[in-house]
Amino acid sequence: MFNLAEYPLSFRENELEPFMSAETVKIHHNRHLATYIANLNKLIANTKYANMDLHEIIVNSVNDESATKIFNNAAQVYNHEFFFNCLGRGHNFIPDVITDAFGGAAEFKEKFKSVANDVFGSGWVWLIRRDEKFEIIATKNADTPIAHGIKPLLTLDLWEHAYYLDWQNRRGDFVDAFLENLVDWKFVLENMDI
Ligand code: MN
Repeated sequence: MFNLAEYPLSFRENELEPFMSAETVKIHHNRHLATYIANLNKLIANTKYANMDLHEIIVNSVNDESATKIFNNAAQVYNHEFFFNCLGRGHNFIPDVITDAFGGAAEFKEKFKSVANDVFGSGWVWLIRRDEKFEIIATKNADTPIAHGIKPLLTLDLWEHAYYLDWQNRRGDFVDAFLENLVDWKFVLENMDI
């Protein structure tokens, strides 16, 4: 059984204002993530997935056509835990390793915004490292890099529930606010193992 208490926020609910309101944080964490967890618990009960950890559920269900709902809910639990860990105030300055890889902070942001802008409907933008090279990719709906053997470094949730209360239709402004003010680069660097 999975439990919301295993996925605490590392920041206060109002700490990300005005870029992400306390209302958005509360609904996103206490309702959306909580619902994915509740659904996952119901779906895996009495199945071969019941005693697996989250990573095992994701990599085993991704190619199981009878387990699409299990995959979607498990991947969303993982994606949200990772996303909330990417957020914070105080370590928002892009590190040299990223500016060096993309040819500058502005170039990194433009690339990230371009990939985000191409996401039609619900999905996620990810900074990943593949074959020692940094890349920015998108996944649709619940899909997640770890289902495909890729370790993520940073993500942004582009589902409407992530921004609509604060930014309405201005998703691009939300992406800008995230890149300028909300990325906890300390967490991203910890994911790099360098
Ligand atoms: Mn979300």
